[in-house]
Amino acid sequence: MVADAISGSSWTLPHPRSHQEVEFHAYLTTLTLPLSHDVNDVFEWVAGDSPLRVFRSSTTWEVLRPRQEKKDWVDAVLFKGAVPKHCFTMWVANYDRLPTRSRFAGWGMLLSAECAFCSRFDETRDHLMLTCEYSN
Ligand SMILES: [Zn+2]
Repeated sequence: MVADAISGSSWTLPHPRSHQEVEFHAYLTTLTLPLSHDVNDVFEWVAGDSPLRVFRSSTTWEVLRPRQEKKDWVDAVLFKGAVPKHCFTMWVANYDRLPTRSRFAGWGMLLSAECAFCSRFDETRDHLMLTCEYSN
């Protein structure tokens, strides 16, 4: 209870172990002591704009997680009945983050960036997916 952190006319808080706790303690000293021991504490959890009577981690996660705008291709990648492994690969390919030899070579991890199938062009996403004769 909040009342347990109050002794007489001051807060009895544990020694702060971080700068954030120091700031929190400083903030608390600006408040008037809220309760006496005979009043029950009431807590309220607000996720986004809606107050909740109970804490729900799923609702909290939906509010806290970073979001981006919905991509045009999301319905082509994620749909009912899709194979998760294929969804993931397509998602990674859309961001051009497939582990191709040209990317490895760009990081200095491989000597050759040539396509492993045809050895005629650099192995890029576009080559593997669109123009490689072997993968075609
Ligand atoms: Zn090729």
